[in-house]
Amino acid sequence: MPAQTRLFLCLKDNFGVLLHDTKTGATAAIDAPEAAPVEAVLQATGWRLSDILVTHHHRDHTGGIEELKERYGCRVVAPQAEADGIPEVDETVRENDTIRVGGLEARVLETPGHTAGHITYFFPADKLCFAGDTLFSIGCGRVIEGNNETMWQSLLKLRALPDDTHVFCGHEYTAANVRFAKTIEPDNAALKAREQEVARLIADKKPTIPSLLGDEKAANPFLRADVPEVAAKIGLAGRPAWQVFAEIRERKNKF
Ligand SMILES: [Zn+2]
Repeated sequence: MPAQTRLFLCLKDNFGVLLHDTKTGATAAIDAPEAAPVEAVLQATGWRLSDILVTHHHRDHTGGIEELKERYGCRVVAPQAEADGIPEVDETVRENDTIRVGGLEARVLETPGHTAGHITYFFPADKLCFAGDTLFSIGCGRVIEGNNETMWQSLLKLRALPDDTHVFCGHEYTAANVRFAKTIEPDNAALKAREQEVARLIADKKPTIPSLLGDEKAANPFLRADVPEVAAKIGLAGRPAWQVFAEIRERKNKF
């Protein structure tokens, strides 16, 4: 596979990630929470930063852009709908656009809900999905600028990607997400398996992502709002999936 990734923590609980094309040497940061950890990984790997692919305008995803752009002259790619709120944007993208990192090709998926213009970068050849704050492992982002129906549609769009897609997200929230998910589906075997895996990874001081989309489909309650047993579990049998999603999201907000 020509694509390599490096994952690292930034700020308090943000993930930084670098995507490297071994054929051309191109390297993209997906979001830039802060510059220093990105630069440390660039130094350790010898990679040259060519691009920053921004998922949404929140400062904990964009705070390092100016410093990195000044140092490396990299191209900054951002969602068209949020370009005004993101520094140093060179190129804007929208639904179904293609964007290249060297020879690696991503398809842009608009996934609004957390923010109104949030996008996800999906690299079909390498089955890599950079979902920002839309989909977390065993969780999803808070619905801040959109509504629950919009967010549910965005999650459905991501759920339609292949099961063997590696999902990268913006935050290390997995352990807390698992604790919450058990309140919705305490008997879900896939969730129990993920709980054990997460405990093992944390004990080894390793990140809990990327996860496989197929595993998320089986264990992440926010991707399961249209599963009849899930609706029944929270007293909403027969209700539209987005309403079930809204109730799960509301419970998580109060958890
Ligand atoms: Zn955010």
